[in-house]
Amino acid sequence: FATDLWLHSAKWSIRTMTDHLRRLETLFTLTPQRMRMITQSFRETLENGLEKVDQVVPMIPTFVFGWPSGQEQGDYLAIDLGGTNLRVCLVHLQGKGKFEVTQSKYRLSEEQKQDEGQKLFDFCAESLKTFIDSNSGEDGILHLEPGEKLPLGFTFSYPCKQNSIDHGILIRWTKGFGAPNTEGENVAEMFQKSLDKFELPVTLTALINDTTGTLIASHYVNPHTRIACIFGTGCNAAYMEHVKDIPKIKDLGIDGGMDMVINCEWGAFDSFEHEHLPRSKYDISIDESSNKPGEQAFEKLISGRYLGEILRLVICELIDDGILFLGQNTYKVEVTNALDTALLSLMESDPTEELLMIIGIFSHFFALETTLAERQFLRAIARLIGRRAARLSACGIGAIVGKMGYLENGCAVGCDGSLYNKYPGFAGRIQEGLVDIFGEKARNIYTHHAEDGSGVGSAIIAAMTKARKDAGIH
Ligand code: BGC
Ligand code: MG
Repeated sequence: FATDLWLHSAKWSIRTMTDHLRRLETLFTLTPQRMRMITQSFRETLENGLEKVDQVVPMIPTFVFGWPSGQEQGDYLAIDLGGTNLRVCLVHLQGKGKFEVTQSKYRLSEEQKQDEGQKLFDFCAESLKTFIDSNSGEDGILHLEPGEKLPLGFTFSYPCKQNSIDHGILIRWTKGFGAPNTEGENVAEMFQKSLDKFELPVTLTALINDTTGTLIASHYVNPHTRIACIFGTGCNAAYMEHVKDIPKIKDLGIDGGMDMVINCEWGAFDSFEHEHLPRSKYDISIDESSNKPGEQAFEKLISGRYLGEILRLVICELIDDGILFLGQNTYKVEVTNALDTALLSLMESDPTEELLMIIGIFSHFFALETTLAERQFLRAIARLIGRRAARLSACGIGAIVGKMGYLENGCAVGCDGSLYNKYPGFAGRIQEGLVDIFGEKARNIYTHHAEDGSGVGSAIIAAMTKARKDAGIH
């Protein structure tokens, strides 16, 4: 009788898992038709942002004009304040699309992200000082003459409204940053203050977004590149636009025949209104408990900062419903953000039949034992979440491709960020998504791993800016 009962309940719980999987599949799956609708409204949003100022998707003019020639040369310093790390690099551009990079990385703590803004920039300047000091001297790679200053590019991967290349008012923090007294301020000026404080031998030449740098760096090595995307802690895209098609800046009197990089800040698509994107209750819950409810609606469905948490919320619900981990102590997995997106990608790429990697993850991180059925179920949910993220990303790319008319002749899309680089199948799913939106013609559009935008890209932009200044163009 006991065995009977056990068999009975085991069957019952397997069936329930299947039911749940079907429900979650419906929730997370995007049909081609839905994707085409999203792409369409996305495109309208982009066009709107070019036309009017202060839109939710701000379509920021970057004052980076045209493509690099590929001949840019010289030594440049670059500093990159990303979502997770602070990186400092020395870039030696050799021309002909060639370069060398020397770099150091510094981890940012959660406290630093919430601490006073000026302190954050002081930390950037201090790290830069450490980098310069440790690479100078007899056998260092940096040889500065007394009084000499190196051009410095600052990659600041948050939405900034610019009215020149070395200026940027922070519109809002994203990716969990919340440092007070920074939103609404000119961050280039704040950083300059910190540079002065540490008496660094540098000239801040450009403030750039990571997508802008990625676009320029990717084009430097692959001239078919027209669009760049970041799929990392945050997500965003930049592309080259015709100045004549940016109505909101027509008063600036810039030659309409020129091209300028636009930083879309597309992570903000569908913020506040939530009209277009398929948000599940898990997404809504993440949004509501974030430090910026309502904002970055597109990013919250896609980027590495959130995907692991989506899976974790699904798991918690299934624990409450008595579907997963029966009889076990589940408190460890019930902690907010306990499941990193890196784990999601490991779960998907488990090559073993027994799903040993998933056994390891759940026992190591959450002290939980898993049955094979549970592991298969968990992997299936991870796939749904990863797939949805990639297909939504395809909608964003599709919107730019459609707007710019790149389908006929094709183009390359330079992509960077942990999701693109490390999540198995992410790139392939974007490609599939593009085919679902455009049909076979979408094969003309291909994504590729981008060149290091915040290092190399920022150096090239500094070189381009210097060349413009030397030529007397502003
Ligand atoms: C920021 C963008 C950035 C992207 C990728 C987003 O949260 O708003 O400026 O390009 O993350 O790093
Ligand atoms: Mg980055």
